[in-house]
Amino acid sequence: MSTEEERARAAARQRIWRANNRERSLEIQRRWRENNHEKAIEKTRRWKETNREHLRAYGLAWFHQHPGKSVEYCERRRARQESSGEKITAEEWQSVLRQFDGKCACCGSCNDVSMDHVIPLSKGGRHAIENIQPLCRSCNSKKRTKEVDYRDKWKPAGETITVEGTASPI
Ligand SMILES: [Zn+2]
Repeated sequence: MSTEEERARAAARQRIWRANNRERSLEIQRRWRENNHEKAIEKTRRWKETNREHLRAYGLAWFHQHPGKSVEYCERRRARQESSGEKITAEEWQSVLRQFDGKCACCGSCNDVSMDHVIPLSKGGRHAIENIQPLCRSCNSKKRTKEVDYRDKWKPAGETITVEGTASPI
């Protein structure tokens, strides 16, 4: 086996471990970044440099999956988020993820879970944690610009979910 193959195998093993130990892995990463602030910045910069092709391919894949969306669309979306002055902190997002066990609020998958705006920004939804649910890539693309709150499925009867650090219930 070549060194490259070995390295790829080790990386794959690490990925699987991370997927199975999401909480722990995030915690380890967070601590490492806290203690190695300078190094973390440098590492991200280097990763971006060596993975430029990969990033480019990922970007292209996104546009393939979202036909009709242009670069201008992305820029408009980002501008809208920024101009609203609203921000979602990493802690708030982690807190929401914890409530859903790091799973998609719709199907329970752990695959590629990311933020989804319950009420899409294009329909006047806010870029705020109260309007965020975790969805896997597949559910996210199925939902598109519909307004569906999957979080209800997870709420035990008679209880409201509150996000740590914010006073308002979701
Ligand atoms: Zn899903």
